[in-house]
Amino acid sequence: SERTLVLLKPDAVRRGLIGEILGRYEAKGLAVAAMWFGTIDGDKADAHYAEHVERDFYPPLRAFVTSGPMAALVLEGDSAIEVVRLLNGATNGVVAAPGTIRGDLSLSNRENLVHGSDSAESAAREIALWFPELG
Ligand code: ATP
Repeated sequence: SERTLVLLKPDAVRRGLIGEILGRYEAKGLAVAAMWFGTIDGDKADAHYAEHVERDFYPPLRAFVTSGPMAALVLEGDSAIEVVRLLNGATNGVVAAPGTIRGDLSLSNRENLVHGSDSAESAAREIALWFPELG
């Protein structure tokens, strides 16, 4: 079993899609191991997106992810990191495959509803950042 960090971004909360999205992860067989709900500040966004802070797309992404509350989750299950990314679909909702969360529910490259850790190293770093108590 493996753990991954998932964010339900502010668009997911604003659109009332927390249940729809979380239900897909749960229906697949992943278990919620931790959950947090709240609005992050810019410093927290910079820490989470450390690898993107110099990118052209980062300033509007930073504004977006600090624009309202998000849910942060640790999901646990076999191959959880890969499974979440397959369920999430491609970054850009326009081209994400139908059947995926982004493919079914997003038309945006930025407001794409979810984040999932992209590797074991990222998952460990992100879980420590969002849930320091999980050690
Ligand atoms: P995530 O890491 O959030 O699961 P991802 O791995 O598909 O998504 P990354 O390339 O890591 O995407 O980019 C992180 C986030 O930055 C994306 O989820 C999206 O919200 C935003 N983003 C990425 N590329 C662009 C872009 N070209 N224009 C606008 N926003 C972008």
